[in-house]
Amino acid sequence: MAFKLPDLPYDYNALEPYIDAKTMEIHHSKHHAGYTEKLNNAIIGTDMENFPIEALLKDVSKYPVAVRNNGGGFYNHDLFWKFMSPDGGSQPSGELLEAINESFGSFDDFRKLFSTAAATRFGSGWAWLVKTNSGLVVTSTPNQDNTLMDVAEVKGTPILGLDVWEHAYYLKYQNRRPEYIEAFWNVINWDFVAERFSG
Ligand code: MN
Repeated sequence: MAFKLPDLPYDYNALEPYIDAKTMEIHHSKHHAGYTEKLNNAIIGTDMENFPIEALLKDVSKYPVAVRNNGGGFYNHDLFWKFMSPDGGSQPSGELLEAINESFGSFDDFRKLFSTAAATRFGSGWAWLVKTNSGLVVTSTPNQDNTLMDVAEVKGTPILGLDVWEHAYYLKYQNRRPEYIEAFWNVINWDFVAERFSG
Protein backbone atom coordinates (compact mmCIF):
# COMPACT_ATOMS: atom_id res chain seq x y z
CA MET A 1 0.00 0.00 0.00
CA ALA A 2 1.30 3.41 -0.96
CA PHE A 3 -0.09 5.31 2.01
CA LYS A 4 -0.30 4.09 5.59
CA LEU A 5 -2.55 5.25 8.42
CA PRO A 6 -0.23 7.09 10.81
CA ASP A 7 -0.37 6.25 14.52
CA LEU A 8 -1.78 8.90 16.83
CA PRO A 9 1.05 10.71 18.64
CA TYR A 10 -0.82 10.17 21.97
CA ASP A 11 -3.53 7.93 23.47
CA TYR A 12 -7.18 8.20 22.48
CA ASN A 13 -8.03 9.67 25.91
CA ALA A 14 -5.09 12.11 26.00
CA LEU A 15 -7.11 15.16 24.94
CA GLU A 16 -9.86 14.67 27.55
CA PRO A 17 -11.91 16.53 28.60
CA TYR A 18 -11.71 18.74 25.50
CA ILE A 19 -11.93 15.94 22.93
CA ASP A 20 -13.35 12.68 24.26
CA ALA A 21 -11.66 9.30 23.82
CA LYS A 22 -14.53 7.70 21.89
CA THR A 23 -14.55 10.49 19.32
CA MET A 24 -10.77 10.24 18.92
CA GLU A 25 -10.94 6.46 18.51
CA ILE A 26 -13.67 6.52 15.86
CA HIS A 27 -12.15 9.54 14.13
CA HIS A 28 -8.74 7.89 13.80
CA SER A 29 -9.51 4.17 13.47
CA LYS A 30 -12.61 4.53 11.25
CA HIS A 31 -12.66 7.90 9.48
CA HIS A 32 -8.94 8.47 8.93
CA ALA A 33 -8.45 4.77 8.19
CA GLY A 34 -11.27 4.98 5.65
CA TYR A 35 -9.75 7.94 3.80
CA THR A 36 -6.40 6.15 3.72
CA GLU A 37 -7.87 2.94 2.32
CA LYS A 38 -9.96 4.74 -0.31
CA LEU A 39 -6.97 6.87 -1.35
CA ASN A 40 -4.94 3.70 -1.90
CA ASN A 41 -7.80 2.14 -3.86
CA ALA A 42 -7.95 5.24 -6.07
CA ILE A 43 -4.25 5.30 -6.96
CA ILE A 44 -3.36 1.60 -7.10
CA GLY A 45 -1.84 0.56 -10.41
CA THR A 46 -1.53 4.16 -11.66
CA ASP A 47 1.31 6.69 -11.92
CA MET A 48 -0.19 8.41 -8.89
CA GLU A 49 1.36 5.69 -6.71
CA ASN A 50 4.77 7.30 -7.27
CA PHE A 51 3.86 10.77 -6.04
CA PRO A 52 4.13 12.11 -2.51
CA ILE A 53 0.78 13.24 -1.12
CA GLU A 54 1.67 16.95 -1.41
CA ALA A 55 2.32 16.53 -5.15
CA LEU A 56 -1.05 14.82 -5.66
CA LEU A 57 -2.84 17.61 -3.80
CA LYS A 58 -1.02 20.39 -5.65
CA ASP A 59 -2.39 19.17 -9.01
CA VAL A 60 -5.55 17.60 -7.62
CA SER A 61 -7.83 18.98 -10.37
CA LYS A 62 -6.03 16.64 -12.83
CA TYR A 63 -6.96 13.52 -10.86
CA PRO A 64 -10.19 11.63 -10.11
CA VAL A 65 -12.44 13.20 -7.46
CA ALA A 66 -11.68 10.25 -5.15
CA VAL A 67 -8.10 11.55 -4.89
CA ARG A 68 -9.35 15.01 -3.93
CA ASN A 69 -11.70 13.67 -1.26
CA ASN A 70 -9.59 10.87 0.19
CA GLY A 71 -6.15 12.38 -0.45
CA GLY A 72 -7.39 15.49 1.34
CA GLY A 73 -8.84 13.37 4.13
CA PHE A 74 -5.61 11.39 4.49
CA TYR A 75 -3.39 14.49 4.62
CA ASN A 76 -5.66 16.76 6.69
CA HIS A 77 -6.09 14.24 9.50
CA ASP A 78 -2.38 13.41 9.58
CA LEU A 79 -1.81 17.09 10.31
CA PHE A 80 -4.80 17.43 12.61
CA TRP A 81 -3.49 14.87 15.14
CA LYS A 82 -0.19 16.76 15.29
CA PHE A 83 -1.89 20.15 15.61
CA MET A 84 -3.13 18.90 19.00
CA SER A 85 -1.31 17.74 22.12
CA PRO A 86 -2.18 16.98 25.75
CA ASP A 87 0.54 19.55 26.55
CA GLY A 88 -1.01 22.11 24.20
CA GLY A 89 -3.00 25.27 24.69
CA SER A 90 -1.64 28.61 25.87
CA GLN A 91 -0.26 30.86 23.13
CA PRO A 92 2.41 30.87 20.44
CA SER A 93 5.62 32.83 20.99
CA GLY A 94 8.64 34.13 19.09
CA GLU A 95 8.54 34.65 15.33
CA LEU A 96 5.17 32.94 14.96
CA LEU A 97 3.54 35.30 17.46
CA GLU A 98 5.17 38.27 15.72
CA ALA A 99 3.80 37.11 12.36
CA ILE A 100 0.31 36.64 13.87
CA ASN A 101 0.44 40.15 15.36
CA GLU A 102 1.59 41.56 12.03
CA SER A 103 -1.14 39.85 10.01
CA PHE A 104 -4.09 40.10 12.42
CA GLY A 105 -3.27 42.87 14.93
CA SER A 106 -3.12 40.64 17.99
CA PHE A 107 -3.39 37.02 19.07
CA ASP A 108 -6.95 37.68 20.32
CA ASP A 109 -7.97 39.13 16.97
CA PHE A 110 -6.50 36.08 15.23
CA ARG A 111 -8.30 33.76 17.63
CA LYS A 112 -11.66 35.44 16.93
CA LEU A 113 -11.11 35.31 13.18
CA PHE A 114 -10.13 31.62 13.21
CA SER A 115 -13.04 30.64 15.49
CA THR A 116 -15.47 32.54 13.26
CA ALA A 117 -14.09 30.83 10.15
CA ALA A 118 -14.59 27.46 11.86
CA ALA A 119 -18.09 28.30 13.12
CA THR A 120 -19.37 29.71 9.82
CA ARG A 121 -18.03 27.03 7.45
CA PHE A 122 -21.39 25.67 6.27
CA GLY A 123 -21.68 21.89 6.46
CA SER A 124 -18.47 19.88 6.56
CA GLY A 125 -14.99 21.30 6.20
CA TRP A 126 -11.92 22.79 7.83
CA ALA A 127 -10.71 26.13 9.19
CA TRP A 128 -7.08 26.98 8.45
CA LEU A 129 -4.24 29.28 9.36
CA VAL A 130 -2.20 29.48 6.17
CA LYS A 131 1.29 30.73 5.39
CA THR A 132 1.03 32.55 2.04
CA ASN A 133 3.40 34.71 0.01
CA SER A 134 1.71 37.74 1.54
CA GLY A 135 1.75 36.71 5.19
CA LEU A 136 -0.58 34.66 7.37
CA VAL A 137 -4.21 34.23 6.30
CA VAL A 138 -7.25 32.63 7.95
CA THR A 139 -9.56 30.74 5.62
CA SER A 140 -11.79 27.69 5.47
CA THR A 141 -12.37 24.94 2.91
CA PRO A 142 -15.31 22.61 2.20
CA ASN A 143 -15.25 18.83 2.60
CA GLN A 144 -11.67 17.48 2.70
CA ASP A 145 -10.15 20.26 0.59
CA ASN A 146 -7.10 22.13 1.85
CA THR A 147 -4.95 25.07 0.85
CA LEU A 148 -2.32 22.98 -0.95
CA MET A 149 -4.90 22.13 -3.61
CA ASP A 150 -4.95 23.95 -6.94
CA VAL A 151 -8.73 24.25 -6.53
CA ALA A 152 -8.45 26.20 -3.24
CA GLU A 153 -9.52 29.85 -3.02
CA VAL A 154 -6.57 30.69 -0.73
CA LYS A 155 -3.36 28.80 -1.49
CA GLY A 156 -0.43 28.26 0.84
CA THR A 157 1.01 26.03 3.54
CA PRO A 158 -1.56 25.06 6.18
CA ILE A 159 0.16 25.61 9.56
CA LEU A 160 -2.94 25.09 11.75
CA GLY A 161 -6.24 23.43 10.92
CA LEU A 162 -9.47 22.50 12.67
CA ASP A 163 -11.77 19.74 11.49
CA VAL A 164 -15.38 20.96 11.74
CA TRP A 165 -17.05 17.87 10.31
CA GLU A 166 -19.76 16.66 12.70
CA HIS A 167 -17.81 13.39 13.15
CA ALA A 168 -15.13 15.46 14.93
CA TYR A 169 -17.40 16.62 17.75
CA TYR A 170 -20.95 15.25 17.60
CA LEU A 171 -20.66 12.55 20.31
CA LYS A 172 -19.62 15.08 22.98
CA TYR A 173 -20.95 18.39 21.70
CA GLN A 174 -23.89 17.35 19.45
CA ASN A 175 -24.87 20.48 17.47
CA ARG A 176 -22.81 22.86 19.63
CA ARG A 177 -19.93 23.41 17.23
CA PRO A 178 -18.88 26.70 18.93
CA GLU A 179 -18.20 24.80 22.20
CA TYR A 180 -15.97 22.35 20.36
CA ILE A 181 -14.13 25.23 18.73
CA GLU A 182 -13.57 26.86 22.14
CA ALA A 183 -12.28 23.54 23.52
CA PHE A 184 -9.78 23.20 20.65
CA TRP A 185 -7.81 26.24 21.89
CA ASN A 186 -6.88 24.23 25.01
CA VAL A 187 -5.09 21.52 23.04
CA ILE A 188 -3.35 23.37 20.19
CA ASN A 189 0.26 22.22 19.80
CA TRP A 190 1.92 25.59 19.13
CA ASP A 191 5.36 23.96 18.89
CA PHE A 192 4.21 22.04 15.82
CA VAL A 193 2.49 25.10 14.35
CA ALA A 194 5.74 27.07 14.81
CA GLU A 195 7.68 24.24 13.16
CA ARG A 196 5.45 24.38 10.07
CA PHE A 197 5.64 28.19 10.07
CA SER A 198 9.46 28.11 9.99
CA GLY A 199 9.71 25.15 7.60
MN1 MN B 1 -12.39 14.29 10.36
